[in-house]
Amino acid sequence: LNKRPVTVIGLGPMGKAMAHAFLKQGHAVTVWNRTASKADELVAAGAVLAPSVERALSVNELVVLSMTDYDAVYAVLEQAPHAVRGRVIVNLSSDTPERAREAAEWAARHGAVHLTGGVMSPPSGIGNPESSIFYSGHQAAFEAHRDTLAVLAGTDFRGTDPGLAQLYYQILMDLFWTGLISYVHAQTVADAYGIPAAEFLPYAQSTANQLPGFFSFYAPRLDAGDHTGDVDRVGMGVASLDHIVHTVRAAGVDSALPGAVLDAFRRAAAAGHENSSLTSLVEVFKKGAA
Ligand code: NDP
Repeated sequence: LNKRPVTVIGLGPMGKAMAHAFLKQGHAVTVWNRTASKADELVAAGAVLAPSVERALSVNELVVLSMTDYDAVYAVLEQAPHAVRGRVIVNLSSDTPERAREAAEWAARHGAVHLTGGVMSPPSGIGNPESSIFYSGHQAAFEAHRDTLAVLAGTDFRGTDPGLAQLYYQILMDLFWTGLISYVHAQTVADAYGIPAAEFLPYAQSTANQLPGFFSFYAPRLDAGDHTGDVDRVGMGVASLDHIVHTVRAAGVDSALPGAVLDAFRRAAAAGHENSSLTSLVEVFKKGAA
């Protein structure tokens, strides 16, 4: 009943999953993709393949974009810039917060509304309300289309700055990539010493499971700028990282990853934070904003 029709442009793994989710919930779906053959399965499932970007934009008010990045978005929208007038462009492509702000201005100049999205799910999580997508930008447009967007994943509106959804996405990906690759790195060292992933797994998981407790402990101290070294000290961190780097090198493994952390600890110590907590590394990181 009253399911809004949607246009989905960009049929990579993510856009395809999104178009399927809308179809499954009974929405009429129009699709367009640079490589038209990627729409075959969706057409078989009931979607309509638009013959042009112009047509894809003109049939529905709500237009979901899922492209590699914003360059790809412009490459598509600039094929029919007049056709974006009056549209709500929900841009679920990843890029930087600045590019999201520019895109919101681009859309406004062309008479459209831009909602930025940051998708915190792999394609397999699309259609699951436990997955989450950050939104930011035009709040009234978000409210008006919230129920339709909820078909894709849980919705989390972060604020009216169009950059915010991508900011949250990028800072979480900063955490995700360095965290996940630290696992791959540790396993490389483990392998060098004959410890297979299956054997190391429960230990890796147990350490990772302790991290949320550390986040909760340090978050209020970070907000308060309280770097008291009562439970950990930068000097201790330097010694610990030094042992890790030696162990990694002795295994013949690249030590750049823990070496970068050791370097940050050393810079904190050199800046006078030797007896402060590891939270004082924020002072070192802030200085690198050049
Ligand atoms: P892909 O890069 O596989 O697909 C993106 C789409 O962009 C394709 O439809 C592709 O068209 C199109 N495209 C790329 N360049 C151009 C161009 N110059 N002109 C026209 N079309 C172009 O990405 P995904 O589907 O995997 O992801 C989409 C977005 O979602 C990305 O921004 C990604 O960061 C984000 N995301 C993806 C996740 C994932 O696990 N896949 C997880 C979370 C976010 P064509 O088919 O013709 O090549």
